[in-house]
Amino acid sequence: MTSTQNKFDYIIVGAGSAGCVLAARLSEDPNISVCLLEAGGPDKSIFIHAPIGLAAMLPTRLHNWAFKTIPQVGLNGRKGYQPRGKTLGGSSSTNAMLYVRGNKWDYDNWAALGNEGWSYKDILPYFKKSEGNAAFNDDYHNNTGPLAVSNATDASDINQMFIDACVQQGIKQTDDCNGAEQEGAFYYQRTIKNGQRCSAAKAYLTPNSTRKNLTIITHALTEKVLFEGKTAVGVRYQKNKKSIDITCNKEVILSSGAFGSPQILMLSGVGASEHLTEKGITPIHQLPGVGQNLQDHIDYIQTFKIDTKHDTFGYSVRGSLRILKSMFEWREKRTGKVTSTFAESGAFFSTQENLVAPDAQLIFVPAIADNHARTMNFGHGYSCHITLLRPESIGEVKLNSSNPKDSLAIDPKFFNHEQDMVILKKAAKKMQNILEASPFSAIRKEMLYLVENGNDEQLEKDIRNRADTQYHPCGTCKMGPITDDMAVVDAQLRVHGLEKLRVVDASIMPKIISGNTNAPTIMIGEKAADMILQN
Ligand SMILES: Cc1cc2nc3c(=O)[nH]c(=O)nc-3n(C[C@H](O)[C@H](O)[C@H](O)COP(=O)(O)OP(=O)(O)OC[C@H]3O[C@@H](n4cnc5c(N)ncnc54)[C@H](O)[C@@H]3O)c2cc1C
Repeated sequence: MTSTQNKFDYIIVGAGSAGCVLAARLSEDPNISVCLLEAGGPDKSIFIHAPIGLAAMLPTRLHNWAFKTIPQVGLNGRKGYQPRGKTLGGSSSTNAMLYVRGNKWDYDNWAALGNEGWSYKDILPYFKKSEGNAAFNDDYHNNTGPLAVSNATDASDINQMFIDACVQQGIKQTDDCNGAEQEGAFYYQRTIKNGQRCSAAKAYLTPNSTRKNLTIITHALTEKVLFEGKTAVGVRYQKNKKSIDITCNKEVILSSGAFGSPQILMLSGVGASEHLTEKGITPIHQLPGVGQNLQDHIDYIQTFKIDTKHDTFGYSVRGSLRILKSMFEWREKRTGKVTSTFAESGAFFSTQENLVAPDAQLIFVPAIADNHARTMNFGHGYSCHITLLRPESIGEVKLNSSNPKDSLAIDPKFFNHEQDMVILKKAAKKMQNILEASPFSAIRKEMLYLVENGNDEQLEKDIRNRADTQYHPCGTCKMGPITDDMAVVDAQLRVHGLEKLRVVDASIMPKIISGNTNAPTIMIGEKAADMILQN
């Protein structure tokens, strides 16, 4: 994956959820040449394609940037963990594969903030265009798009206990949280095809990688965008310790994610001039919103231990034998426990009446889930994540230095807004009631980290000791009208005040959505490709 060509119509920086979609859609026309640059390597590893391989990538540097935040006051001074995919497919190659779109209200709100063309009615066709759903084909779903979506085939029996417990606690059962109504308890649909992960790379790049007009360059770390005056004319990237310049006839498109895209803009001299000067970078364009408006889903997990005989994942002789057997099954038939993403069932619910959309999400895991799988616990258990869907705390990313290899200073400012703790505690109490409800009575043993049910002080202490991201940073190159001083791109995703430069990825979300962010970012890629081609 190298190239001697040095001029293309479009240069796309970052082969993640959005970048892969753009590369495939723009290169559908053989007369358009596209170069896709990716800092990570090819996506050949078995850990990417076998869904259960997530457990190997999440806690390690395997295809993972594995960033850390700066110490978080709201987390008792702890540094948060920020895994991000570093390979073709980006985070869609390392994520938990849950297919979730958020709520209709999220997109109507983006439009209400001054972003024409982004209401739910406007974006639904792009969700459908991307989707190849094996279970649904109706007003909300499509079964012919490239991104494979399917139901779990081998979910553990204890998920049914979770769903029964949710129903007992007043959450109705639903089979589609991405259809007419989001609220309810359900089995997650996943981006999996024939028992293998369907990343954005697998869906959009692999089938088109032999196109002559599509050049994919891996292990290429983009240093900066090259400008002539206020017009982007190309990029400089590093490969094999060399700096290489390539130029474009049409546009440079940054799709490097919520951390990569603002970092490249700032390294290129686009951002808050004072901050850039402080880091020794000559400002080219004053745009104070670059790196601001960081939003992320704060997430807290509770775990109960159970006996090893139950059908769950865990470190035990029985658990290891089960996995070993499943590996053979997966090798032969692509079925069995290896197709699990660990996150199997869940729910969306509201912590109070009359909210615009559910504000809490549950993700049930038939295993002991502790510290992003970085803390090993022997034995078996069941765990559940509770996620605050529309946090008010807003953070930022800044440069540590002008070196493109240096990571950013990531500051999500978790719990900076006091309301976030109030709502998360309320939602966590409901989760604990569910996990302690009678459907689990026959199997439930002690809690991994004890919180007495109803003890507010213990709960808050445990949240501050152990809560962290649910891996959805976004908003750092926010979309908004020119009248919004902190907007970085307009509704066509063009960088304000500059020519031939767009940002297309999760960083453009003006407000975090009420759900997981992979399908929405792929939708953003589909819509952007359409807008670019129409221009
Ligand atoms: C562990 C984990 C679990 C998750 N689980 C889910 C889930 O179950 N469901 C869900 O919907 N969402 C999930 N997400 C979130 C979702 O995957 C992301 O929101 C989405 O993939 C973001 O897409 P993106 O295009 O903005 O960025 P990414 O997909 O992260 O792509 C950015 C790409 O740019 C590359 N890059 C960065 N800097 C440079 C540079 N300087 N030069 C060249 N290339 C560069 C990166 O290597 C990467 O490949 C999860 C994320 C993680 C990390």
